[in-house]
Amino acid sequence: RAKSHQLHVYFLPMMAPGHTIPMIDIARQFARNGAKATIISTPLNASHFSQTIERDRENGLEISISLIEFPCQEAGLPEGCENLSSTTTPEMSRNFCRAMDLLQEPVEKLLRENHPDALVAGLFFWWANDIAQKLNIPRLQFYGTGFFPMCIYNTLKEQKPQENVESEYEEFVVPGLPDEVKLTRRQLSEETKDEDKSPFAEILRKIAASQSTSLGIIVNSFYELEPAYARHYREVIGRKAWHVGPVSLFNKSNADKTHRGLGNFSSDDNCLSWLNSKKPNSVVYVCFGSMAIFSAAQLLEIAKGLESSAQQFVWVVREKAKDEGKVNWLPDGFESRIQGRGLIINGWAPQVLILEHEAVGGFVTHCGWNSILEGVASGVPMVTWPLSAEQFLNEKLVTEILKTGTPVGAQEWTRRTDDQRETIKGDDIEKAVVKLMVGEEGERMRIRARELGDKAKRAVEKGGSSDADLKCLMEEIRNYHP
Ligand code: UDP
Repeated sequence: RAKSHQLHVYFLPMMAPGHTIPMIDIARQFARNGAKATIISTPLNASHFSQTIERDRENGLEISISLIEFPCQEAGLPEGCENLSSTTTPEMSRNFCRAMDLLQEPVEKLLRENHPDALVAGLFFWWANDIAQKLNIPRLQFYGTGFFPMCIYNTLKEQKPQENVESEYEEFVVPGLPDEVKLTRRQLSEETKDEDKSPFAEILRKIAASQSTSLGIIVNSFYELEPAYARHYREVIGRKAWHVGPVSLFNKSNADKTHRGLGNFSSDDNCLSWLNSKKPNSVVYVCFGSMAIFSAAQLLEIAKGLESSAQQFVWVVREKAKDEGKVNWLPDGFESRIQGRGLIINGWAPQVLILEHEAVGGFVTHCGWNSILEGVASGVPMVTWPLSAEQFLNEKLVTEILKTGTPVGAQEWTRRTDDQRETIKGDDIEKAVVKLMVGEEGERMRIRARELGDKAKRAVEKGGSSDADLKCLMEEIRNYHP
């Protein structure tokens, strides 16, 4: 293709906030670098980011949204269940996967009509490769996770060290990695322990098979964060990858930062003015992403732990906790005792703005990859509290390799819709928060976190490692010959 040819790239994000949010950021960055970007989404999902895209268009970017209907009814889902975060049972999650499978036909039709130069498709859209092959265009994957967890997954899949231990509690070493990483079976997902028993076995096999025919993977990470693993993934595992992140840093204006995700708040949100009244590094931010569902008992322990830590905090509790009648999740008199010292946000918080605020000196996180990277980009140390997905692996990266966090002590992987999750005690939460916010060890973590944050910012600046990799990727798409 001629050098002057304007690339047109289609993006198909998986319908879950932790996947859609970073992919929208990536699509917009393609557009800022001169490409035409089209995001395929469904009406309800698109309503969360259409304003942002509209603003981009007013500012001259060539970016648009292409809507397709989500087949709720055909897949046995209630009307309006267009996002994985709205599913509450394993059966609903399985139906959700079926619905995503049913999108193959409308997506293929769209691409046939528009002849783009590439398709970037999220995890679970294994069939995107077939479409791309038919159209002679490259397909790129986006899994929404980092090199470190992908390297571990690959080893667990190929060498299966997890099968050589006698109990769920016994530690094993993941062989062949740049560092000695130890895990227990308890920290692994059902599918990693025994793929055949997983309700998602079939789709996981299809995803794995589709890797070999895709051009490569776009990773929301930066080289300086996990250099040994970025190399290991490319050179030892032998797959093509481009690191382009942290993608949250692509957002420069407050409007862009506030409108990431499911938020409907303004940048002068109550929480930010509250933070403005606090001293630097004096507030801990507590949030468990978009998917986690906690029991009332667990919420009560978090409240106790935060109160007895004597630290100032912003705690995000998803609305559902209240909707479902879990009214007793706060200890008696809690709200009046913490007045002025703690803030509870019911619903969706402007996470990136909060993390970047100078008053915030620590982050209690469930270790979702986006949250980890947003914490890293803001130079904030963390208390790690993994729950499901690959979060136990992400915890290892933060606490043992980057040494910018301390674990709360969660031990057991659970599916997010499982109500049998272990309850972490208030005492343990208090200890971890105090260690992070007060004393020398916390300060050392904060210094390291700050250095990493500076490296993150340099990575996405002009000429930085992520900026350069994104440009390489665009060049590779331009030069693609099937
Ligand atoms: N998020 C947010 N406000 C909230 C909760 C989450 O902005 O109240 C954003 C957060 O900044 C991140 C994403 O939602 O970009 C969550 O992704 P992550 O990978 O951390 O976790 P998941 O939700 O996938 O478990």
